[in-house]
Amino acid sequence: AESWQTVPLAPPDSIFKLTAAYKVDKFDKKINLGVGAYRDNDNKPWVLPVVKKANELLLSNPNIDHEYLPITGLPEFTSAAAKLILGSDSPAIKEGRVSSVQTISGTGANHLGALFVSRFYSWGGDKEVFLSDPTWVNHHAIFKNVGVTPKTYPYYDPATIGLDYDGLMASLNSAPPRSIYLLHACAHNPTGVDPTKEQWAKIADLMLEKGHYAFFDCAYQGFASGDLEGDAWAVREFVRRGVSLLVCQSFAKNAGLYGERVGALHVVSPTQETGARVTSQLSVLQRSEISNPPTYGARIVSLILNDPALFEEWKRDIVTMAGRIIEMRKQLHHLLTVELKTPGNWDHIVNQIGMFSFTGINPEQSKALTEKAHVYLTVNGRISMAGLNTHNIRYFAESLDQTVR
Ligand code: PLP
Repeated sequence: AESWQTVPLAPPDSIFKLTAAYKVDKFDKKINLGVGAYRDNDNKPWVLPVVKKANELLLSNPNIDHEYLPITGLPEFTSAAAKLILGSDSPAIKEGRVSSVQTISGTGANHLGALFVSRFYSWGGDKEVFLSDPTWVNHHAIFKNVGVTPKTYPYYDPATIGLDYDGLMASLNSAPPRSIYLLHACAHNPTGVDPTKEQWAKIADLMLEKGHYAFFDCAYQGFASGDLEGDAWAVREFVRRGVSLLVCQSFAKNAGLYGERVGALHVVSPTQETGARVTSQLSVLQRSEISNPPTYGARIVSLILNDPALFEEWKRDIVTMAGRIIEMRKQLHHLLTVELKTPGNWDHIVNQIGMFSFTGINPEQSKALTEKAHVYLTVNGRISMAGLNTHNIRYFAESLDQTVR
């Protein structure tokens, strides 16, 4: 009876708490801009048409069984997933030096990647990882869980509501050599601010010079620009330049497979022989964590990635999602700057990328939006653009306008 007397009560997860508060709110114009899941123009979850097709193919296949997958996952999924992020003509893949493991979505990829570096990275000094300030909050917990201390590097500059490029470069310069830097491959969460190609190239140069390791997290491929290839540019450029790296990949957002937990971890090694040893150790770690990854989501994504017609259709579905979000950015920007003449500069709304936007409003204003206008958002002023649609965008713009006046 004494066993758990000293367990402290943990606070509820802030995003899930926000959703719960939204659900019980009876106000008819309430808006949920907290959670990072795509919604259609009627605020409904969207099952991608291509996923529906793949699902039908799967269900009508008499040869589908429920056996275990290999420890590292469905081979035709992991190999196609590697090509999707690294490029179909990637020399690293051709040279056989990419270790790909199917994971429990992007979170699982981050965890397995963190566990792997925790065990096997040749740490010069303390076990630490540099995370962008701010970042997806889970990054901190994921690294702490495996005994790696999270440090932060400057990323977002509130003054410009853009990238603190000088701060980021200064951090890369002053960090101990061979430090690990977690980089968002595209559509940075929560800021929506990405480096330009020129900036990425300079970051890569400096990381090479300092011997830093790039721990890429790619949860939004396709969501930034609507183009899968374009959104993979930074990762491919780092591989091309020879920066040591791994990539965490999620199909939650770009395939709308949130609950199916389909993702992959790709570790790029300098040689095939090193890659074989890396794969062997990833298998050992995976075995003790989950034994074998789940089949359903991997089969769906594998069908889509390996069938040219389905792949083309998927690209169109991604354009539908990214296009709607980009259109919401334009409309919000227009409402604020032209119609309402809201004080301040709102160009960041259209300049930021992906599912999220950092509005630049302070915590008091965020709270006021929730309490007075029933608009639910995180106190850091981040809004999920996917929660906006042609029915609620005017109400949101007017509420934001009143909050900042
Ligand atoms: N990484 C980032 C930056 C994210 O924003 C998310 C989801 O919000 C994830 C990883 C992981 O998502 P999932 O585990 O659903 O693939």
